[in-house]
Amino acid sequence: MDAITQNLTPAQADAVTHVDGPLLIIAGPGSGKTRVVTHRIAYMLNQGVRPWQIAALTFTNKAADEMRMRVNLLAPNQPVWMGTFHRFCAQQLRRYASFVGLAENYSIYDMSDSRSAMKRAIQAAGVSTSHATPEQIASAISKAKNRLITPESMQQQSGRASDTVAARVYPVYQEQLLLANAVDFDDLLYHFARLLRENPEVRGELDAKLKYIMVDEYQDTNLAQYAIVRAMSVDHPNLAVTGDPDQSIYGWRGADLNNILDFEKDYPNVKTVRLEQNYRSTPNILAVADQLIRHNRRRKAKELYTENPDGENVILRQYQDGYEEADAIADEIAAQMITGNAEPRDFAIFCRMNALTRSLEHALRNRGLPYQIVNGVEFYQRKEVKDLLAYLHLINNPSHDVALQRVINTPTRSIGATTLGRLQSFADAERIPMLEAARRADEIDTLSKRSKTMVRSFVSLYDRLRKKATASLEELVRYLVEETKYIAFLERTTVEKEDSNPIENVDEFLSAAVEFDRMNPEDGSLEAFLEQVALVSDTDKFEDSNNRVTLMTLHAAKGLEFPRVFLIAVEDDLLPHYRSKQDDQQLEEERRLLFVGITRAKQWLQLSYAKRRSMRGDIRVAIPSMFLSELPRADMNVIESHADRDFFDESVDDDYPESWDLVQEPAPEEEAEQEYSSETAVTNTSSIGGPKTPPSTVDRLPKTTSDAASVIPE
Ligand code: ATP
Ligand code: MG
Repeated sequence: MDAITQNLTPAQADAVTHVDGPLLIIAGPGSGKTRVVTHRIAYMLNQGVRPWQIAALTFTNKAADEMRMRVNLLAPNQPVWMGTFHRFCAQQLRRYASFVGLAENYSIYDMSDSRSAMKRAIQAAGVSTSHATPEQIASAISKAKNRLITPESMQQQSGRASDTVAARVYPVYQEQLLLANAVDFDDLLYHFARLLRENPEVRGELDAKLKYIMVDEYQDTNLAQYAIVRAMSVDHPNLAVTGDPDQSIYGWRGADLNNILDFEKDYPNVKTVRLEQNYRSTPNILAVADQLIRHNRRRKAKELYTENPDGENVILRQYQDGYEEADAIADEIAAQMITGNAEPRDFAIFCRMNALTRSLEHALRNRGLPYQIVNGVEFYQRKEVKDLLAYLHLINNPSHDVALQRVINTPTRSIGATTLGRLQSFADAERIPMLEAARRADEIDTLSKRSKTMVRSFVSLYDRLRKKATASLEELVRYLVEETKYIAFLERTTVEKEDSNPIENVDEFLSAAVEFDRMNPEDGSLEAFLEQVALVSDTDKFEDSNNRVTLMTLHAAKGLEFPRVFLIAVEDDLLPHYRSKQDDQQLEEERRLLFVGITRAKQWLQLSYAKRRSMRGDIRVAIPSMFLSELPRADMNVIESHADRDFFDESVDDDYPESWDLVQEPAPEEEAEQEYSSETAVTNTSSIGGPKTPPSTVDRLPKTTSDAASVIPE
């Protein structure tokens, strides 16, 4: 018991010991919201609440794991339900499947299954995709489900062209899913919310059974999630939610800030607890976070303070390019492990999108630093990257049947399983590779005329690609993407995700090719590249240990904390993301995303941006994020990289926004001197005490800059 209420501030203890009746904990990052949830679970168990009467809902599995671990320390081995909303709904739906027209053994479609189902539904609905891409249709339907809009009611609403088209596809898509006894991710919430709404007995049953429902990160609930927890907290209104409006980052998925702002209206007798002391971060880190978030207009201001000791200044660092950034960060981690008594598990590297982690993976691996990627698929395991790699494998080795099977109908070219099976039988009988069988398609009697034509056209595509096998890797990959019309294929078939965009992954793959050419000017053979990639994949089979550097997206980092954090590529078009820049509300959400990232750090934080970043296979001028100019310099060390400035002419520098005055450009005469100097300069140090950041460990790059210059587009 003591362990449960000890080490809590009075405000925290107040929340923990409030068992019956609605509870709202609204507080900034690191103030102990999640701690209150875990301690409250233990406290309730102690007060005689049965473990099965409690459910604690989170947004990510990682957050649920973390919560389970913390509760287990206070109240070991209690079967309290803790998990994500989606998992919760999936389990409930198993029991009540028949109420929504499903059988108990229903399947949950993953993204690619849903994509195929959507394609089929679009065809069956007979709508034209000239005004709305399948991606837009899928996204409109997803949003409708998150707002509990039924197929019937969507048809009655008028809206954008894509919504009108989606309204026609929606009923067909739902019908096909039900016929297949399947649901997509959104359906888990949608079906369960509707089930509660339409079946008062079920609702009452669950309300009575799950008397104590808790939601951490409530600011990210969408309407469906809100409806679910509200419906289960009518007779027993013991709903406890924690949230921080400044950390709402799921607007794109329909999250509605009003759910938290209106909680007090929904439950007039709510007990509201505000927590103001931050226990996580140093004052420097908090000051930076606070200054940033003040730029959001749609918020209620709140004060955060900490009694934690001063730490090092937050570092804002410029790099020449993404490769230097990756190498320098890996060096910095290695150095801090020696001088700072740190372990790999103390470090986290956050980025806006998964595609940005590839150079870091290389850099960490080269130094033998163990790392893990959370909530993301290793770069070379991503579907689109594997597709392109399979082409390269087949170009390199025409007998690579596995690669052939992967690419012969990717992008789709009407070569189905039957044709493939017949090719395979012929190849088996003749003991030849499948590509060879494809060449001899005319001899295969079982193939239809149409199939033969399709196969022939694939072979001729292959021969065209093969001719480029000895070109530079960059040229080969560009040619491959173009000839196969791979981007158009992705555009037809993909649904947008929070942090991994397939097209960006293709661009990143192109960047990998460019980099490989640059690093291997002499012997950059296709085979060497494939070998390098194969070895990368090999080392993915980690030994089981958690002492690793964590690489993750900002979205995945929510709710977590790390002693030392690197936030990379804080650049315009990435953060804020180019799609969110035009809209004020979306821009504020991007700012909150950066706020979430900054507030994960306990002791040490570095934000970085590069002058150039490889995008779409080109090395482009990168512009620092507008958010960086909003940070308080007094609490930061601003470090500029001076190397190789002469690759930019004046017009390029003019592209920097006027507000961007953090970095003092060297005078022209210094510039010449510093052409091949590795120096970095500390241009601003804080007046606040604390150890100063040691000089950069980055002292490389010049030897490769002339190569880099050659790939800067004219
Ligand atoms: P976020 O908004 O980022 O999710 P949070 O409000 O949930 O943050 P917690 O993760 O619960 O914050 O707490 C942040 C850190 O502070 C944790 O390491 C936690 O153990 C510690 N902490 C919170 N309250 C106290 C306390 N009263 N005494 C000691 N440590 C505390
Ligand atoms: Mg938390």
